[in-house]
Amino acid sequence: MLSLNRQSIALISDHADPAAVIGLEEAGGQNVYVRHVGENLAALGWQVDMFTRKVNPNDETIVQHSPHCRTIRLNAGPESFVPRDQLFDHMPEFVNSFQTFQSKNGISYPLVHTNYWLSAWAGLQLQKTSGIQLVHTYHSLGAVKYQSVELPAIAATRQSIERQILEQAECVVATSPQEEQSLRSLVSSSGRIEVIPCGTDTTNFCLTSKPEARAKLGLSLDEKIVLYVGRFDPRKGIETAVRACALLRARGVENFRLLIVGGSSPGMTDGIERDRIEQIVNQAGMREQTTFVGRIGHDALPLYYTAADVCVIPSHYEPFGLVAIEAMACGTPVVASDVGGLKFTVIPDETGLLVPPQDVEAFANGIDRIISDDVWARKMRRQASENVTQRFSWTGVAIQLSELYRHILAKSIMHEQPWSFRTSKHSDVAIMAKSRVPLVKANK
Ligand code: UDP
Repeated sequence: MLSLNRQSIALISDHADPAAVIGLEEAGGQNVYVRHVGENLAALGWQVDMFTRKVNPNDETIVQHSPHCRTIRLNAGPESFVPRDQLFDHMPEFVNSFQTFQSKNGISYPLVHTNYWLSAWAGLQLQKTSGIQLVHTYHSLGAVKYQSVELPAIAATRQSIERQILEQAECVVATSPQEEQSLRSLVSSSGRIEVIPCGTDTTNFCLTSKPEARAKLGLSLDEKIVLYVGRFDPRKGIETAVRACALLRARGVENFRLLIVGGSSPGMTDGIERDRIEQIVNQAGMREQTTFVGRIGHDALPLYYTAADVCVIPSHYEPFGLVAIEAMACGTPVVASDVGGLKFTVIPDETGLLVPPQDVEAFANGIDRIISDDVWARKMRRQASENVTQRFSWTGVAIQLSELYRHILAKSIMHEQPWSFRTSKHSDVAIMAKSRVPLVKANK
């Protein structure tokens, strides 16, 4: 449903469909981010259209999530899965489809928020032709990612677009101060950056009873549970978690179970990684103690976090890491790699532990410290949940983004006022009051 007195904005998320099933192949944090940001912005009074690439002819072209928030699937290349490193060639068609949608529907989005570098390219084309206000979130940064993986053929193009978007967008949203630092040191010293984190649904991921969660999942209260949640991707470091658990076992700590939650499709890249991890589990003698749970939706995931004694996040690189805040919101302390956004979300010794990535011994020691100290674990349970609720609710994230958009739109009308926006609790009321941008009313 479109509304005349609402300001329409577009979120573009080329490969990460906000309406997709999460936890399979390439569907992860970005899909969750765009969907929740979109829905929460709509609740604040915007008309939110989220654009993605259509990957299946049987998928609906428009998915209505709530009266003022919808996903629109555009034609760009084949209607089938294409790995993101091969998507760039289809982006011109994506831009054409976006423009056709606008003209057919009589909509002209004054502000476009792009997600990931491919969408950034689309945003930069739209900026050239239609004078939109452009906001960008990276989700993953080539300059950091390529420090630990072999360079794909697309690397140079990606890094060049990641620099252009920082220098030319109205504003780039970094999801942690660590990302802001990486942008400044590795990408460009010009361009505007605001730090606005990712969030989590704190009504879904919250403190509930561990015995009840265990009972519902058919898990005994007598053994400790070490949990991994996420996609099967080598950069997630699941291997480190398995080897750390095997090391614990070799040290005589036996009364625990490793649950690995995440979907995989045979023959696809996540299926190949799952097979590799299963082999490591078998070779490490962990078969009996490990359960591959498969993909679990956000409706049932809180049960798994709550049932667990510790959640491991052994990523080699993690731009933000939604799993960490979901686990902590449920009161489960984490042992996470000391990288990227995890440095921002995890407070060492209060809500979890940070250890060097790929350091099997450090992960084993961290897990052991948490599962062998019930008093400390109980204290962290409360602290972890409180901390996430205060810092990372989607509502709070959407309020900050909404203020940023309003400021940018007001500034565009007032023609280049000096940039004075900060994502504080106070919006720049003076500029808003003078602007002709309609002040949207909360509509919850
Ligand atoms: N996820 C899920 N079901 C699964 C596995 C993962 O819903 O079986 C979700 C998880 O809850 C989180 C997202 O996928 O919301 C992963 O986001 P994160 O930022 O941790 O990692 P990314 O996938 O973006 O690398």
